[in-house]
Amino acid sequence: MSKALETVLEIDLSALTHNFNYIKSKLQPDTKFLAVVKAFAYGSDSVIVAKHLETLNVDYFAVAYVKEGVALRDAGVTSPILVLHPQSLNFKTLIERCLEPSIYSHHVLDEFIKIAETQSQQKYPVHIKFNTGLNRLGFLEHDVEAIVSKLENTSSIIVKSVFSHLAASEDSKELAFTQLQIKKFKSISEKFKEKLKLQPWFHICNTSGILNYREAHLDMVRSGIGLYGFGNSAQEDKNLKPIASLKSVISQIHSIENEETVGYNRAYNATSNEKTATIPIGHADGINRIYGNGNGFVIINGKKAPIIGNVCMDMIMVNITNIECKEGDEVIIFNSENTASNLSQSAKTISYEIITSVSQRVKRIVIDAK
Ligand SMILES: *Cc1c(COP(=O)(O)O)cnc(C)c1O
Repeated sequence: MSKALETVLEIDLSALTHNFNYIKSKLQPDTKFLAVVKAFAYGSDSVIVAKHLETLNVDYFAVAYVKEGVALRDAGVTSPILVLHPQSLNFKTLIERCLEPSIYSHHVLDEFIKIAETQSQQKYPVHIKFNTGLNRLGFLEHDVEAIVSKLENTSSIIVKSVFSHLAASEDSKELAFTQLQIKKFKSISEKFKEKLKLQPWFHICNTSGILNYREAHLDMVRSGIGLYGFGNSAQEDKNLKPIASLKSVISQIHSIENEETVGYNRAYNATSNEKTATIPIGHADGINRIYGNGNGFVIINGKKAPIIGNVCMDMIMVNITNIECKEGDEVIIFNSENTASNLSQSAKTISYEIITSVSQRVKRIVIDAK
């Protein structure tokens, strides 16, 4: 791996292959694999990730918004793409770019049928989303009949899949709740199967659902965080490899005296003669201010250097009093050894948040260390 001369996010495609194969090894051979590449593939790069996953024969992609699907189509991604949270404002674009909407309410269903009929679409693929306990988006079980009757009255759309989302699949304390969600979903599936002539696919598992609820894999699974190298448990983290490394470099080193202060609002106060390093990464790059004042750290020459004082927009200062280092040395914010999951815990957040926060200002570099 190359030494960083500026702040970069390295994306390791061999790690992505590893994670894909690991998750796939948990599935029955005929269970389809949908890769969730929303939010720039969890803060990495959705085009790079999606194109690589296409070479591994992934079956489907999902993004959150239409705009994210358009970016994939612009880059030449041809696999089917489910848009988890489309807005009717963007339905025309969605259809133009062959993106497939999640339909989660009667309002959205009516709007989509209207536009599909206006365009004389035939059998445009849609995905029906059910709420089984997350209470975020989705129809309820008692909506099945009304949905089916709307479907029977139009040939403009066809239900490609029916799905739901688990609220706490990573949490063993919520086993009973998750099993209840799965049971509800199975009951919804039965109703659909009875009433629809063409059989849609059914799916409910995200990464932790895949790993913890094998009985619920059904026709397809939807993996996000696992592909990026996190399994939401110490045990599963060991089986996966973080694909992204956030690296930077020491811009300047300062020797400060006892009682000098560092940074805005003089938030850090030296308690002895100390050494600090200034790193070109700040809250505009995704290092949230919560990581300041000793909550977060970076790694320099294998040692932890705490972030001192307030995180600035474009920089942080770290304490290197006990670290051998010089200007130009590499700084690791997170990588496969010092993981985003570790760093996130120090700020009481989760891996999902820190990896998706790396802003578009940070240069992405692909490495494929086979
Ligand atoms: C984001 C998302 C996923 C992926 O979840 P992971 O925990 O990252 O695997 C799956 N399904 C839906 C509906 C989502 O919004």
